[in-house]
Amino acid sequence: MEHQETHCIICGEATEDGIVVVNQFICTSCEQEMVKTDVEDRKYPFFIHRLKRLWVHMNV
Ligand SMILES: [Zn+2]
Repeated sequence: MEHQETHCIICGEATEDGIVVVNQFICTSCEQEMVKTDVEDRKYPFFIHRLKRLWVHMNV
């Protein structure tokens, strides 16, 4: 089996555990963070900001 390591676009962590969204890799911990992040959470704008870049890529 090939060993493939991917860098998370949010935290930059190199890991094999995660999901791919719009051809961008998000590690499991960041995905969990996003899932449980509430709109009123301070981290929310951060994730939205990072994800916005993905949506922009997608719509170009
Ligand atoms: Zn991450």
